[in-house]
Amino acid sequence: MTAYNDFKIISSSNNFSGASVIPPDVATCSNCLEEIADPNNRRYKYPFTACTDCGPRFTVINSIPYDRERTSMEDFPLCSECEVEYEDPEDRRYHAEASCCEVCGPDVFLYKDGMLKIENPIKRAAELIDEGKILAIKGIGGTHLVVKTTENGPVDSLRQKLRRFNQPFAIMSPNIETVKGFAEVSDVESDTIQSRRRPIVVLNKNSDYSLAPSVSPYLHNLGVMLPYSGLHHLLFSYSTEPAYIMTSANMPGEPMLINNEEIISKLDGIADYFLLHNRRIINRCDDSVVRFRDGELAFIRRSRGYVPEPYDFSGINQKLKVLALGPEIDVTFSILKKENVTYPSI
Ligand SMILES: [Zn+2]
Ligand SMILES: [Zn+2]
Repeated sequence: MTAYNDFKIISSSNNFSGASVIPPDVATCSNCLEEIADPNNRRYKYPFTACTDCGPRFTVINSIPYDRERTSMEDFPLCSECEVEYEDPEDRRYHAEASCCEVCGPDVFLYKDGMLKIENPIKRAAELIDEGKILAIKGIGGTHLVVKTTENGPVDSLRQKLRRFNQPFAIMSPNIETVKGFAEVSDVESDTIQSRRRPIVVLNKNSDYSLAPSVSPYLHNLGVMLPYSGLHHLLFSYSTEPAYIMTSANMPGEPMLINNEEIISKLDGIADYFLLHNRRIINRCDDSVVRFRDGELAFIRRSRGYVPEPYDFSGINQKLKVLALGPEIDVTFSILKKENVTYPSI
């Protein structure tokens, strides 16, 4: 056996042309969540806490190889404490490209006719949602419109403004125990909804379902996800609601809103308040949606947490090169090359 004395990650060369694959975004890990919840930790209540095991990847990457200088984190040079972690091979933030803290990282702020001077904008946002207001919340790969789910009023108000009268809205619930209070959850659904990919999972409502009927009208099921960013976890830590509607804030036929000025101007008249941040979203990535049929996972939308990871098609005729196009409404072309199928995230 060879003994090694040292381990280094060295700078990538500029003419890199290897087969590096851009990794998908990963939900905040349990170690980072412990830090966010620990009053003695320097990342206490910091919504952008991330490490090598978790955080944004695809949504912040400009180009490969995946180094900080090629991500939107380049806008936030590491402070001395973060730098020590980043340089230490023994630290779980060794070369964690999305690592940051309150001193050096992105900021979150609440906006209504200007930036509001509030000590804790996330807490205030949760209070406003619980009061029945509509919030636009900029997230990891796009923007959500958010309302409470225990009264029809705010849900109907959102429906009127979006002119979406019957389409079910996806919801986010703070934890799996709360989800079991209103939905049936099988073992495989439970594993998937809690996985680091954190898709929306379509679940059957259970006999105790008591959320507002207008969340998912005329349907026996609804799409549910769990928090996947520090900001989501913090929001629910300040809320008394069992779930929030979190529907993607894009106008019909238009891509998701990712730019602060655009979010404010396009959602003017729809959102009462805006919870925004100053990290650029490089690649849009909507929430993935899955359902289970006879225990088999089926995608309704394959996006955050999965893309741009290719499908493994090993075992089929490798001489075949296929370009697949369609369907009619969404652009979902795919390319089969060697053993992998790749396609863009829309
Ligand atoms: Zn982490
Ligand atoms: Zn820092």
